[in-house]
Amino acid sequence: MEIKRIINELKEERPYLKSPLELYERVLEFNRKCEKIIKDKAKNNLLDEIINEFSSIFEIPYEFSSFLKTSILNSAKDPFSEPKSILELPISEEETSKEEIKRALFILSKPFFIKYRESLKKKKKFEEIGRCVVCGEPVSLTMIDSENKRHMVCTVCGHEEEIFRIGCSYCMQKICEKIDLLVDEDEIRVELCKDCKTYIKSFKDEVYQKFKDPYLIDIISLPLDVVAQERGYIRRSPNIIGIQRVV
Ligand SMILES: [Zn+2]
Ligand SMILES: [Zn+2]
Repeated sequence: MEIKRIINELKEERPYLKSPLELYERVLEFNRKCEKIIKDKAKNNLLDEIINEFSSIFEIPYEFSSFLKTSILNSAKDPFSEPKSILELPISEEETSKEEIKRALFILSKPFFIKYRESLKKKKKFEEIGRCVVCGEPVSLTMIDSENKRHMVCTVCGHEEEIFRIGCSYCMQKICEKIDLLVDEDEIRVELCKDCKTYIKSFKDEVYQKFKDPYLIDIISLPLDVVAQERGYIRRSPNIIGIQRVV
């Protein structure tokens, strides 16, 4: 698989990205296996199967995975029709590994969001609500295609949609002068909104052709997140491996 090769090369070339890239490889494997499980199995066994897969791929101790399963069942919400309920599972404030649990839940929610997104028939337009129309999260990643059209890519649920070319997809202002740009050596950019202090990544088709995967492009540009956040700008939704705040 091409994406596998690209990730392997990146791990060699950029050792500082080894750990996030390895985590992403596991996320890809988890999503792939869950897609198969969801296709093949009857719905009543799905949660068990998905959590088992999650524990084995991410090497999660049995106690923690059974805690996750109990929490999902106790929430009395069907994660397939309300995937967001997984992100909202109660985590005790004193919990020392709170951030880690949040990230685990974020990754665990992926297959549920993918299934939910595919089952949604009628969707609103991004411009009507200013958030992802599938999961309701703010946009942090956009691609500009070969015709200079811009598309949001939701890092939470995978929804893609064409949006306005210039402007801030968080506060929706569309004045060019209010957006500052930072560009890295891969030509990946962050667009900094001077009004609401949000930043959004964007990249052109040439960058996409090189790396073949918008979520991977989001990960390799982690150094840009550092620079933008050090300047006081805010990322409003996590990347695909659950990283949101880096400074
Ligand atoms: Zn979404
Ligand atoms: Zn803004």
